[in-house]
Amino acid sequence: MAICKICGGEMLEHVGCKIGICNCNGKSYPRIIFGAEKRFEDVFGEDDICPDCFAPFGSFHHLGCDIEECPVCGEAIYGDCECQLILPDLADMEEMLK
Ligand SMILES: [Zn+2]
Ligand SMILES: [Zn+2]
Ligand SMILES: [Zn+2]
Repeated sequence: MAICKICGGEMLEHVGCKIGICNCNGKSYPRIIFGAEKRFEDVFGEDDICPDCFAPFGSFHHLGCDIEECPVCGEAIYGDCECQLILPDLADMEEMLK
């Protein structure tokens, strides 16, 4: 069992995250989808799943994925990124879209 804390999805079922936005200093940014990372350009293809969070190619990574990049600075969110990124959960996201 590997449940994503923000979307509630079971990562091992190879579904993408339902959370498509993140927050940084009060602004919303679209998250980087799996396959669009600058660090891994041309490494992954259409049939691949994320080696860390098992999201399918072209979908959003789950919370805590080491592959995901920050849409603000382009660095790994859990690596070199020093932004104050907040990934909302489903309830927060519905609130933000109102
Ligand atoms: Zn998720
Ligand atoms: Zn991932
Ligand atoms: Zn950043």
